[in-house]
Amino acid sequence: MRERVENIDLSIRRISEKASKKDDVIRFDIGQPSFDTPEHVKETAKKGLENKQGYSPMLGLEELREEISVEESMKKGIEVSSEEVMVTTGGMGALFAVFSARLESEDKAVFNDPCWGPYKMISEVSENEWSQVQYWDEDRNLRQEAKDEIRDADLVVVNTPGNPTGYVLNEDQAREIAEFADENDTFLISDEVYHRLTYGRDHVSPSSYSSNCCIIGSASKNHAMTGWRVGWLVDTPENIEQYAKVSRASTACPPKISQYAAIEALKDDSHVKEMREAYRRRRDALIEEMNDLGWDYVAPEGAIYAFPEVGEDSWNFCMRMIDEGVAMVPGEPMGPESDRNVRICFGSTTEEEIREAFQRIKKAV
Ligand code: PMP
Repeated sequence: MRERVENIDLSIRRISEKASKKDDVIRFDIGQPSFDTPEHVKETAKKGLENKQGYSPMLGLEELREEISVEESMKKGIEVSSEEVMVTTGGMGALFAVFSARLESEDKAVFNDPCWGPYKMISEVSENEWSQVQYWDEDRNLRQEAKDEIRDADLVVVNTPGNPTGYVLNEDQAREIAEFADENDTFLISDEVYHRLTYGRDHVSPSSYSSNCCIIGSASKNHAMTGWRVGWLVDTPENIEQYAKVSRASTACPPKISQYAAIEALKDDSHVKEMREAYRRRRDALIEEMNDLGWDYVAPEGAIYAFPEVGEDSWNFCMRMIDEGVAMVPGEPMGPESDRNVRICFGSTTEEEIREAFQRIKKAV
């Protein structure tokens, strides 16, 4: 086995293992919408079964690439053509393709502290260097330390709305980081897999201010379709041609039946509003409860997560709370500055469960 693969840290599994052995645990640890895939999407998939089920084109079904290009054009505010779109096996497949295609082993990627864990895991597998630094100060300016890292790196990942914090960049931030990366010839990955899930704030894509970047998108969270494995990548046709080689070498093509479902989800997206409203109510309940406990957190304005500081070692706290009937994810593996924070997913529970969970937490702290 390769050493870097053997050394990948999967310690977070300890949480789900412990939580699943105990009865009546409220599961804030699972980053998965509580909603099922909308009925009309499932129906379309059933009809899709009547089509030939061979491989799909390597870059995805043309109709889906068209739908994605319409969605991305609206987001980016400039015309995106379907040739600039590659459909992938989840947003994960898109990220893996970009890292593998772009980074030599001595090249470095930079991630925010905290960040979604798999960025590091992908780096370990594709054997590039990486570092982590807090990007933003309290006034939403790019920190000097972050600038130093980005200047020195080959690739920087920006994730808005963010996992694990729910942090959403404003226009000035999106512009600042994109322009800074451009000026320093650092390629920008804009991970926007939660772009439809913002609460009282618009999503702004850093890609609007960059000429050297790609966008990562996904049907997983925006449309409650995690298991269908449909994601995408937006970049120039020349770059897409290179990323496609990695896709070809790893998955051959994205799953075809899921692509029919994704076309329908993007065409008739009436379900998004309803889910977003439910997430917003849960988020509001969670904020009330966190305030009640006096916890510090950055306001979760998007995605389905909050990342409060809990005043003790994140592993101790999470392990202790499972015994009380609440499972959360420790912040420590998500970044060196995050070892007293925990990730709470409000997408996978009901409002009542959030209230009940905090009754349990309050009794225990
Ligand atoms: N980026 C981020 C920040 C995520 O949270 C996720 C899913 N948890 C992904 C990318 C990948 O999503 P998927 O592969 O399910 O499309």
